[in-house]
Amino acid sequence: MKRFEWVQASTTDDALGQSTRTCAELMDSNKKTSGASVVKAGGIDLLDLLKEGILSTQRVVNIRSIDDLHHISFDKKGCVIGPLLTLAEIAEHADIRKKFTALADAAEHIATPNIRNAATVGGNLLQRPRCWYFRSEEFNCLKKGGKDCPANVGENKYHAIFDNEKCSIVHPSTAAVALVALGASIELTSRKGKREVKLEEFFISPSEDVVKENRLAEGELITAITIPDNGWKSAHIKLGEKDSFDWSIGDCAVALDMEGSTCKKAVIVLGAAAPVPYRATAAENFLKGKSIDEKTAREAGKLAVQNAKPLSQNEYKVTMLEVAAMRALLKAAQS
Ligand SMILES: Cc1cc2nc3c(=O)[nH]c(=O)nc-3n(C[C@H](O)[C@H](O)[C@H](O)COP(=O)(O)OP(=O)(O)OC[C@H]3O[C@@H](n4cnc5c(N)ncnc54)[C@H](O)[C@@H]3O)c2cc1C
Repeated sequence: MKRFEWVQASTTDDALGQSTRTCAELMDSNKKTSGASVVKAGGIDLLDLLKEGILSTQRVVNIRSIDDLHHISFDKKGCVIGPLLTLAEIAEHADIRKKFTALADAAEHIATPNIRNAATVGGNLLQRPRCWYFRSEEFNCLKKGGKDCPANVGENKYHAIFDNEKCSIVHPSTAAVALVALGASIELTSRKGKREVKLEEFFISPSEDVVKENRLAEGELITAITIPDNGWKSAHIKLGEKDSFDWSIGDCAVALDMEGSTCKKAVIVLGAAAPVPYRATAAENFLKGKSIDEKTAREAGKLAVQNAKPLSQNEYKVTMLEVAAMRALLKAAQS
């Protein structure tokens, strides 16, 4: 790990004054970024990147103890969460569990108790992909400014089954899958002002820009996450190789607008499936006006993966995601 300076920011203005760059910019070998600063929240992903030798920076700006970024409030419209809420705080919050079950379910099953105590929801949304070629300093893949995607012809068992032609990373954030299903937006603040972006539109596919995964701009911070309270039912199911200390290999968040036992509207989002949280729209449309039981949930699960294009080693993910979608639908409907 290369040496860096440490800056302790105690207010949002302090942090904004540091003109930080995104990790994607710092890791793009085609960009000149010497002298740049980067934000640290819980530090779980950032320190991995620094230790792996694929990110270097002159300055790390620690935002972890900024009080005005650590808050939660509820009103009739919904809930506003500060980006520094930890995953453990989200998983344990009684009102989040009651109103936004999918988010509490998702946060509860990320990584390990130790990591959930340190990792923040803002950092979770912005962590970089876990693709082993991207994470190795031995490979200069497309995301780091290289010329090809080694995963597409190499070891790809954990990679994408949708939208995988150019670069087959899967989106790493489990919280994002739940927040997209719940229709969340994020507030982005820079020295120029604030903007609000629907989380679903914040993430970008490699076909639009292969170097970055989201629309965070230079000097911007996530300063709030808003979840609308529509009274919908929701759930999240994560499947992995281990119960703890592991990433998802297939997960699904579902949000349901129900009238009695009839589904008026469903939002179904697959995780660890594509470079962005993946909306299963054919399954969503199929469920409109139907009751959700084992038969319709199974059919919806099949429709959710109907356009999958697995790579040489990840066909097993098609079945996993089909099952995750079916189970998440039943769990949400029965909650
Ligand atoms: C064994 C293991 C298993 C894991 N399993 C999972 C899993 O199943 N699902 C999952 O989602 N994750 C998983 N993770 C990843 C872990 O949850 C993330 O690394 C963590 O949530 C990142 O949050 P952080 O606060 O530590 O972010 P940091 O490392 O501090 O920051 C991450 C990125 O976000 C930027 N950043 C942070 N906060 C802000 C802000 N407010 N505004 C602007 N930029 C900001 C930083 O500059 C950096 O680029 C796992 C990790 C490990 C080690």
